[in-house]
Amino acid sequence: MAEESTPHTSASVYRNGHEIECWLTDMDGVLVHENQAIPGAAELIQRWVDTSKRFLVLTNNSIFTPRDLAARLRASGLEVPEENIWTSALATAQFLKDQVQSSDSGNRAYTIGEAGLTTALHEAGFILTDTDPDFVVLGETRTYSFEAITMAVRHILAGARFIATNPDATGPSKDGPMPATGAIAAMITKATGREPYIVGKPNPMMFRSAMNQIDAHSETTAMIGDRMDTDIVAGMEAGLHTVLVLSGITQREEIVSFPFRPNQILNSVADLKSQI
Ligand SMILES: [Mg+2]
Repeated sequence: MAEESTPHTSASVYRNGHEIECWLTDMDGVLVHENQAIPGAAELIQRWVDTSKRFLVLTNNSIFTPRDLAARLRASGLEVPEENIWTSALATAQFLKDQVQSSDSGNRAYTIGEAGLTTALHEAGFILTDTDPDFVVLGETRTYSFEAITMAVRHILAGARFIATNPDATGPSKDGPMPATGAIAAMITKATGREPYIVGKPNPMMFRSAMNQIDAHSETTAMIGDRMDTDIVAGMEAGLHTVLVLSGITQREEIVSFPFRPNQILNSVADLKSQI
């Protein structure tokens, strides 16, 4: 049964008597839709900035660096500081850094991906190489190369650990869906018999790494998302207060088909900004 927020009179969201201190939010369908800011999103972000709230905007997209994404969001009408953006590429780099530090594995990675991934791995201290890598790291790219996929397959068969930034099978483009990381991962799995470890949503690892980044604790952190099957389930499993907004993928009539519920359901973030 869904947990109810404690009734409150002040302008804050409460959970079991504790005020929500930190916010994680999905990007597409919550803050932006087809490169247009969703009404209320700009004001919400501004409110968080003005009140020095700790928050991160999360995306499974591993193509762009936070700086690129901040520029794209600005073009959509949203001012999000780049340090408030957390991508699956950053989460993957953090995960791999932890793996290297807590085991005796090396820090050599063969990557298929764009600047979002290569920059994150480089900044996490990885050596990007096509010779004898410890990890094969697959991210989103618009220019999949058969040669690169062949190289990834051979490295995995030779013992490199297979990691993917996100499970999404397709991604959007203006002309229609395009094959994405999950589809290419499936091809590599078929060729190697190895499944990747996937860091992005719905793996709660994405939220745990984001919370570490802003020193947040699950009891006082909320997750805002537009998808029951990714944002809400993963937020719930990470122990967060979950807020479903109906401005994206999941529609109100679909909620009943899921065996779990979010803590709050709102039409859009415009309804949230009056509460915080
Ligand atoms: Mg979304």
